[in-house]
Amino acid sequence: MAVTDTLRSRGNLSGWYVRPAGSDAEPPRAGTRVDWVACQPVQDLLEQGKRAGWRNLGTIGNEAHLKRHGDHTGHSKGKTRGVVYAKDTDVPQAAGQALIELCRIPDYDTTYIDFFNWRGRQYNSAGRDVGPSSDQHLHVSVRRGHELTRITLFNDVVAVMAGTFRKAATPMPPIFNQLGFIAGAQLVQLPGDPAIWLAGRGKRAQVMSMTELKAVRAYLRSRGMDDTTREVVSLPGEVVT
Ligand SMILES: [Zn+2]
Repeated sequence: MAVTDTLRSRGNLSGWYVRPAGSDAEPPRAGTRVDWVACQPVQDLLEQGKRAGWRNLGTIGNEAHLKRHGDHTGHSKGKTRGVVYAKDTDVPQAAGQALIELCRIPDYDTTYIDFFNWRGRQYNSAGRDVGPSSDQHLHVSVRRGHELTRITLFNDVVAVMAGTFRKAATPMPPIFNQLGFIAGAQLVQLPGDPAIWLAGRGKRAQVMSMTELKAVRAYLRSRGMDDTTREVVSLPGEVVT
């Protein structure tokens, strides 16, 4: 199956245009109809950017773009006819910085990136500044040969911003299943009594070992919750096991 058919069968963004009068000398000639479809990396960025809440500024270009032969057309010079290889996105400052940081991680795969522009500079796939650009927004161009490649770039940018990139999630200890909830759970202890309880919402479950206590505290911290043990004058709630 042709690459364009595969991309269409995946439901990627598609459309068509007629090359405008006054186009440059690169093929196809003015008046030719071009059917286009977004390459997979562009499609993935569309979906991930939407989830991140970043405004999409476009994939296929306007008439001025279509008169030329760049990546915002279906006739980019040197690339596959009918495939759109670029997307523009309005991203926050921290996202642009996170993207550059990601590209500079030696074992982070960016081989599908041809180049990207951001805040007046152009960067290569390794995140190296290679010169000026007229773009202030983030422009990402995809390399030929990666039309079908699935990517996680914007998800990873979001993870870098959140500090969770390549960090395994802290597992939830089973004691939270005993309680049946997480929010509002607090470690409590009677003064002079070694027993520690995880309590809240009229229930409590006993923490049975130091190992379990460590796991509970780590999990509470991972959720931004208080991981200290509070002294109480009487133990609250009914015991659950
Ligand atoms: Zn662009």
